[in-house]
Amino acid sequence: MKTETIAIHAGNHTDDTTGAVVQPIITSTTFERLPDESFRGEYIYSRSSNPNRTALENVLTKLENGAAAAAFSSGNAAGMAVFQSLKPGTHIIAPDDMYHGLRNQLKQLFAGILEFDFIDIDDTEILKAHLKPNTGLIWIETPSNPLLKVTDIKKIVSIAKERNIKVACDNTFATPICQQPLTLGADLVMHSTTKYFGGHSDLMGGALITAEDNEWWQIIHNVQTMGGAIPSPVDCYYMVRSIKTLPYRVRGHVHNAQLLAEFLDAHAAVEQVLYPGLPSHPNHEVAKEQMIGFGGVLSFILKGDRLNTHRVINKLKLITKATSLGGVESLIEHRATMEGPDTKTPFNLLRISVGLEHIDDLIADFEQALN
Ligand SMILES: *Cc1c(COP(=O)(O)O)cnc(C)c1O
Repeated sequence: MKTETIAIHAGNHTDDTTGAVVQPIITSTTFERLPDESFRGEYIYSRSSNPNRTALENVLTKLENGAAAAAFSSGNAAGMAVFQSLKPGTHIIAPDDMYHGLRNQLKQLFAGILEFDFIDIDDTEILKAHLKPNTGLIWIETPSNPLLKVTDIKKIVSIAKERNIKVACDNTFATPICQQPLTLGADLVMHSTTKYFGGHSDLMGGALITAEDNEWWQIIHNVQTMGGAIPSPVDCYYMVRSIKTLPYRVRGHVHNAQLLAEFLDAHAAVEQVLYPGLPSHPNHEVAKEQMIGFGGVLSFILKGDRLNTHRVINKLKLITKATSLGGVESLIEHRATMEGPDTKTPFNLLRISVGLEHIDDLIADFEQALN
């Protein structure tokens, strides 16, 4: 089946007992035993599994072309389950611009338990120089946040496979509509489903999707069911509902982002636009090779000082100043403020999550704010 069809049908089934076309929300935390102590189906207790979570995991698995999925209560919970699944002493290589929430998780919660290096992962020589006998995982994030760097997934996979190292990819910015890391050879995909999957800035969630249902996956699964970082049945229901429109929404985000990137790129007040869909992007060729679409987030660097950057962002009327991305409404953010004092993000960089408003209105808002 094609993506649009999967998005609508793989997370839903007509209810056997009532005929409801949309799968109902099952809030019960526990499931009745039959006289012989067995259960009617696969459900026992909702921390382990729940029908709405199963439905969500089914559609996630199929969208990413994987073997199994686990839905979490947030993207960070999904990332943490991966780190908790590794044997103490395992060495992780991650990008130096890894999503700051997960970078801080490693630095603050896993120091002394795991080893990690944050490096320029796109430089093969640097990457090879950091490989150690205990390297167990290469973590990639592409396109990256907030610099929109593009990592060549196949290249990383080939280096990792030679040495039996696992590759996990944070695919939040791309979504499976724009990029399918498992198809490119990655072992695991991670998502903050808070972003495009939820798509309306009103749901938190995370996901892991595995290429193979192997021993590592079973450990990750145990971390989740024993740790309990699960989404509620109601959240799962709304996530499944949102995913039905994911392919169409993402296409709209990509369309608007490309046009806005081109507008900003041509504007005299703008120093540089970071968007993989622009031919001037340093990894445009790799992006064209591995991506189906270039995503809905772009960053741009303004000319002038920090004060000017804040002046521009505060002059915008339609575009809301807030963190996060992937919602139908456009959001803009001064990323260095969000990331705090140890950030390497330029002070004059603004990140936009390009929404689904009409592109003419978005451009008009930037036109008045930049002039
Ligand atoms: C938001 C985000 C996360 C963390 O997800 P939460 O749902 O906020 O916990 C991880 N990676 C990327 C790229 C993100 O944008």
